[in-house]
Amino acid sequence: MAVKIPIEDFNPGSVAPGTIQRFFLNLCRPGNAEDLGIPVLVAQGRRPGKTLVVFAGVHGDELEGVQAIHEVFLQLDPAELSGRVIAVTVANLPAYRVTRRISPIDVLNLARTFPGRKDGTVTERIAHYLSEMILPHADFFIDLHSSGLTYVLPTMIGYHASDTPQGRESKEAALYFGTPVMWGHPEISPGRSLSVAIARNIPWLYVEAPSGGRVSEKELPYYINGI
Ligand SMILES: [Zn+2]
Repeated sequence: MAVKIPIEDFNPGSVAPGTIQRFFLNLCRPGNAEDLGIPVLVAQGRRPGKTLVVFAGVHGDELEGVQAIHEVFLQLDPAELSGRVIAVTVANLPAYRVTRRISPIDVLNLARTFPGRKDGTVTERIAHYLSEMILPHADFFIDLHSSGLTYVLPTMIGYHASDTPQGRESKEAALYFGTPVMWGHPEISPGRSLSVAIARNIPWLYVEAPSGGRVSEKELPYYINGI
């Protein structure tokens, strides 16, 4: 069972060493009947170490990342883990529920809305809390995308092409994914999860693949092995 708490109360440090905990981080204002929030999995290793933060479902029609996170967590043994994995299984639940790239509620693209606004629309609130309550825990950040229903991209990794410690870590990690295409970005335009990561000096990657609206068995191993 997922622990359902207000998102302001999320503290991954509360998860016991050597265990996995499911959370549903509630975004609704008091009195709002809608069940809107952010589902998160936390694997807390028995030994201390660094924290990997992974997002899937920033676009609701990109499903490989969602499945990959669940498959990784089925394989993960927190007793053997050093550090912590915090995985947002579906960042944009309103868009995911209707398999759409953008939110049907406020017609905003979550991937152009970071760092969001605390008192904004639903998508702006999701961006705000992902930026403030989840991303700051990261020593490394991966944002899992794919083409969705409206684009066609190759199987690829995007990394931070920068002669900084963060850039070098980003490129080194990108090589582990083994995708046929790697795209180095010297800079990232505003509004992305990655721009928040850069502002916080967190090394990052993003993943893309040709499929959309369904999970491609051919592409899924890149995601699972890469994470
Ligand atoms: Zn996307």
